[in-house]
Amino acid sequence: MPEPTVCVAGGGPAGVMLGLLLARAGIRVTVLEKHADFLRDFRGDTVHPSTLEVLAELGLADRLEEIPHQRVERAGFEGAGRRVDILDLRRLRVRHPYIALVPQWDFLELLAAAASAYPEFELRREAEAYDLVVESGRVVGVRFRDRGGDPGDGHVLRAALTVAADGRHSTLRRAAGLTSRAFGAPIDVVWFRLPWAESDSAAQALTFRFGPGRAAVTIPRRTYWQIAYLIRKGGFEDLRGQGIDALRQGVAQTVPFLADRVGELRSFDDTSVLEVRMDRLRRWYRPGLLAIGDAAHAMSPVAGVGINLAVQDAVAAANLLVPSLREAQRSGVPVPDRALAAVQRRRQLPTAVTQAFQRAVQTFGLNRALRADPGASPAAPVPAWLAPVIRRPMSRFVGLGVRPEHVRTRPD
Ligand SMILES: Cc1cc2nc3c(=O)[nH]c(=O)nc-3n(C[C@H](O)[C@H](O)[C@H](O)COP(=O)(O)OP(=O)(O)OC[C@H]3O[C@@H](n4cnc5c(N)ncnc54)[C@H](O)[C@@H]3O)c2cc1C
Repeated sequence: MPEPTVCVAGGGPAGVMLGLLLARAGIRVTVLEKHADFLRDFRGDTVHPSTLEVLAELGLADRLEEIPHQRVERAGFEGAGRRVDILDLRRLRVRHPYIALVPQWDFLELLAAAASAYPEFELRREAEAYDLVVESGRVVGVRFRDRGGDPGDGHVLRAALTVAADGRHSTLRRAAGLTSRAFGAPIDVVWFRLPWAESDSAAQALTFRFGPGRAAVTIPRRTYWQIAYLIRKGGFEDLRGQGIDALRQGVAQTVPFLADRVGELRSFDDTSVLEVRMDRLRRWYRPGLLAIGDAAHAMSPVAGVGINLAVQDAVAAANLLVPSLREAQRSGVPVPDRALAAVQRRRQLPTAVTQAFQRAVQTFGLNRALRADPGASPAAPVPAWLAPVIRRPMSRFVGLGVRPEHVRTRPD
């Protein structure tokens, strides 16, 4: 394949979706993914109506249907013996008014398979970008190593545009000298699975459960429960020091119906920790380079919107950049900075509003629950009377986001 017009570093939701959209529009694109497959650590798998709409616009909704997944129509919280729904996605006027719980690797395989139908698309696995190639102040490609290689024998991939979609620990945004604004996060999350019992009901929906000093989110999967157990920032070593029994006990108290199976957590090896961080680049681009997805804005897991924002960034970037990229591909004209700036302008507001919401939930909801005296009676994160008032706007905000993107690019 000739030199790509676009090199995307990172085969996550942002990178693979962008690769698909560009290849579909006739732009030669190479996606570098450092892992051999998409079977990474648990990365969250809430595919919201906004993303389902994008899939439908791409004619991929049926293929998603073929992947075993669950649908979540409602979400809420439970504590002090009460359940209150704060999301009811059935009210949204969209084709898919629910959250699809799709394993992220299946979702990414679906996108990659669809992209591979276009000769302009190339996915290079086990290819890790470790630096930028810069000429006269302009990024003109990346240095990457293949499996087993070391930086000394790296390869160079040149492209008219390099996209940093390499996630929240982005190597390329650091190499580009892009600076970010970090927003503190008072929580970290311990993820693990517990078995499903026949008596369990998926109707228990996606639920935030809280008790004094404790909080957890329970996500019903067909054969198991995915649990996000919230701890205070930096508290994992403390928890580990207390031993696995302390975690089992905490889970049993927060989610009483799982008390009969917390013994399945044999050790902390059965858990993985998400160090919650939230930040946003001040500038998402420099000549020849654009950052999108978590590389531009690490999201908190609150409301499970990270995948969806990453996808929305990719759609906006394709919509706004394809004309310049066609020009670059045809006649070598550099992609103008103003086109890259337009992507930031388009996506900055939705990102900032979503992060402001996540910060508010973390500070006034989660942090308050975690800091409550274990002897006190638990305070609901949202007063019950307020839930019906906010249900509709919340459903829209979480399900569709601010300024939802639609696929405007056409197949070449
Ligand atoms: C434990 C956990 C749970 C989460 N839960 C949810 C959830 O329930 N719902 C939700 O919407 N979001 C969730 N998130 C957030 C969500 O996963 C991210 O917001 C989303 O995946 C961002 O997509 P992305 O493509 O920008 O980055 P990523 O998904 O991080 O993808 C980046 C990709 O780049 C690759 N890469 C990294 N560096 C390089 C390099 N130098 N060269 C080449 N490739 C590289 C990585 O291997 C990865 O495949 C969760 C995150 C974590 C960690």
